[in-house]
Amino acid sequence: MNTFAAMILDKDLLSIVEEFGAPVYVYDANTIAAQYTRLKNAFNPIDVKIKYACKALNNSAILKLLKSMGSGLDTVSINEVKLGLHAGFLPHEIIFTPNCVSIEEIQEAVSLGVHINIDNISILEQFGAIYGNSVPCCIRLNPHILAGGNNKISTGHIDSKFGISVYQLRHVLRIVESQKIKVNGLHMHTGSDILDAGVFLQGAEILLDAAVQFKDLTFIDFGSGFKVAYKVGDITTDIEELGQSIAIRFLEFCKEYGRDLELWFEPGKFLVSEAGVFLAKVNVLKQTTATVFAGVDSGLNHLIRPMLYDSYHHILNISNPTGKERIYTVVGYICETDTFGWDRKINEIREGDILCFKNAGAYGFTMSSNYNARYRPAEVLIYKGEAKLIRRRENFEDLLRNEVQIELN
Ligand SMILES: *Cc1c(COP(=O)(O)O)cnc(C)c1O
Repeated sequence: MNTFAAMILDKDLLSIVEEFGAPVYVYDANTIAAQYTRLKNAFNPIDVKIKYACKALNNSAILKLLKSMGSGLDTVSINEVKLGLHAGFLPHEIIFTPNCVSIEEIQEAVSLGVHINIDNISILEQFGAIYGNSVPCCIRLNPHILAGGNNKISTGHIDSKFGISVYQLRHVLRIVESQKIKVNGLHMHTGSDILDAGVFLQGAEILLDAAVQFKDLTFIDFGSGFKVAYKVGDITTDIEELGQSIAIRFLEFCKEYGRDLELWFEPGKFLVSEAGVFLAKVNVLKQTTATVFAGVDSGLNHLIRPMLYDSYHHILNISNPTGKERIYTVVGYICETDTFGWDRKINEIREGDILCFKNAGAYGFTMSSNYNARYRPAEVLIYKGEAKLIRRRENFEDLLRNEVQIELN
């Protein structure tokens, strides 16, 4: 189910905890590389351009790793743009795809030379008024397809705040024409769960229909939404099937369009989710009338996906992998209900054991916080067989860093 498990042994993870402490995020560079290569090959013979969506995991070491493999970057804030540049990406390798940011933030991105992706009509008009045809931009359209899955992470539905509705295309074209805006790309990103290649292709078709009306295109960006397995039996996106259908359709489209365009995708989760695990220590076992709680030295401050999206993360006891399986409810130490998993069958847990949360590479550390005045955890990258610390654990000074101490009389 999970490529990480095949390559990294429990004892290696336990020695990482010994060296760097818990809780800790651990990422495997080989798994990221394998996913990158798999995606790249799926679109053969097209040389697909991958723009890694760095909000999933934005440690500089991970960015440099993806850069070294030939990836570009998808960014959603000016600071992600700066992180990308800091990691060595060239401006033209980065696309800035923000939602509801100010025109000033977009101007700053223009001054840094990155691709601009515009997702509302107000900003498109302001952009045209400032730059005319001197700076090109990409336009994010919402084709209103529902790729399926979890509504909390879907962005393609009719009430979505993301993108410009494809029903407003005539309005968009009027603005583009009257302000002489050079539109170099069209984009869609319909959410995070493509379960069905057919539905995705319908969205792609809507985007291609719109594309013939823009004469200056150099690329089409089909976003992301590649689904990875979080538990055994999960339906995942069949990347190879999707890749081949899109490749054939895209080559056909380029002929119609009269010019070769670049095909872009911007996956986050697909590249890094399975490459990461989160390790936490069991502080307390607590028998109640309903269940046995295993309380770990972590919580929604470190891994919020189970609480925010009801997402499933498989939990293993790597300290006692051959112990008898029992039923546990794994919870955090935060003063909120922070349940990682109800009624999980896990090898017998003893206080002090290390639990391993799988598929923690995407939207794990980047969503962490200091809630309850806890430190954000350390991050470790396994690279060429070596465990390297890529972010130290926070300490007490970090908590006070931005406070201004005042005298109260
Ligand atoms: C979050 C995001 C992605 C990545 O989504 P995943 O589900 O992690 O692959 C891609 N594009 C945009 C614009 C995003 O906001």
